[in-house]
Amino acid sequence: MVWNKEFECMSLEQIQKFQLEKLKETVGWVAAKVPFYKKKLEEAKISADSIKSVEDISKLPFTVKNDLRDNYPFGLCAVPLKEVVRVQASSGTTGKSITGPYTTDDIEQWRECVARNLWAYGVRPGDVFQNAYGYGLFTGGLGVHQGASMVGCTVIPISSGVTKRQISIMQDLEVTVLSSTPSYALTIAERAEEMNVDIRKLPIKIGIFGAEPWTMEMRKEIEERMGIEAMDIYGLTELCGPGVAYNCSEKNGLHINEDHFIAEVIDPNTLEPLPLGEKGELVFTAIQRKAMPLLRYRTKDITSLSREKCSCGRTLVKMERISGRSDDMLIIKGVNVFPSQIESLLLDIPEVEPQYRLIVKKSGYLNYLTVQVETKKEIFKKGKPTLHQIENKIMYHIEQSIGIKVKTELMEPKSIERSEGKAQRIIDESVK
Ligand code: ADP
Ligand code: ZN
Repeated sequence: MVWNKEFECMSLEQIQKFQLEKLKETVGWVAAKVPFYKKKLEEAKISADSIKSVEDISKLPFTVKNDLRDNYPFGLCAVPLKEVVRVQASSGTTGKSITGPYTTDDIEQWRECVARNLWAYGVRPGDVFQNAYGYGLFTGGLGVHQGASMVGCTVIPISSGVTKRQISIMQDLEVTVLSSTPSYALTIAERAEEMNVDIRKLPIKIGIFGAEPWTMEMRKEIEERMGIEAMDIYGLTELCGPGVAYNCSEKNGLHINEDHFIAEVIDPNTLEPLPLGEKGELVFTAIQRKAMPLLRYRTKDITSLSREKCSCGRTLVKMERISGRSDDMLIIKGVNVFPSQIESLLLDIPEVEPQYRLIVKKSGYLNYLTVQVETKKEIFKKGKPTLHQIENKIMYHIEQSIGIKVKTELMEPKSIERSEGKAQRIIDESVK
């Protein structure tokens, strides 16, 4: 069962026809309303009329995060401020945050996109929905809230933080669905264990996690510790917030709401579009928004697209789970390393907790990496020689898999700060 069969199960021909129509409308709209795009489109000699097929999207100019920063706060807004009914902002994970303005219709569409996600995860009217995403400027809280209300859930707008309370609410109100960042879910699971509450025995059955990269190993860890199905939700402030792409029953890849957002994957160096199946930078064009429809927005998120038939019946294009953002890629002794590669390896080591930090230091011209990871309580007690052996084991695994020697330090249990929102796992001391 899908939330919106008409749009989630269209044939490729229908979806492309729909996308073409909306793309032309959007190009016309921004050319008329946003001086930044008017200039860019004129320079590229493109108008709405010159777009004859969806593939012509590759002729459009790109938009990058700095364009949003340079035009902060409302330079890219295509409607007068009196039509803007809400402004949200990005979390600023990678620098100054940017704003996302919405019209009433934009909010309506956003809600619809999130409702599709939740329905695909198995959320239904009557579910008791604990929304532990931060409320406020961050799109996670309100975005998920709106979708859950639309589905007909009993929404608990608890926001993030005050973890002890999260657990009492989960017990007292017989919560069936939890949404948060994956790292905060882990914090909740850990706190519950300290409080001797077995979440696996509570009615909760679905977890909805996103807003930061997380590995399959992390999913398994959370699923086992909470006794739930953990589903992936993806989105970004520049497009609306959460709700852009979502897991279905296959739990393999995320369907993209492509009647709202045309997705491309490009080679970040040549900027040329890549064929289906090839990994590169994800680029989105918002084709139904009014307040801030971005053309070819470069997300810096790394993934690939697939149009293979999905057993859930949805025909929407799928993206592979995001392995990281290019901004997070570390270059260690000349080798490219994604934090997710390290996470996957660490979570396979039974003696450590899924709590880690990556410290980058510079020596001469090269960057060096130190991986700090917490030890399980019973292991830590065993003393230095055992810890040393485990450190060597981890170093060996990392070297075998990634090809570089990195220093590994086993840390005392609970010594690494816990996340309540997006986890900060990289500490870059190389730029000092
Ligand atoms: P910021 O860039 O400041 O973190 P946002 O809060 O808008 O701003 O976050 C959007 C970004 O969060 C995405 O571009 C992506 O890098 C990351 N993200 C969101 N959802 C997921 C997900 N399910 N998996 C991996 N990364 C995600
Ligand atoms: Zn599917």
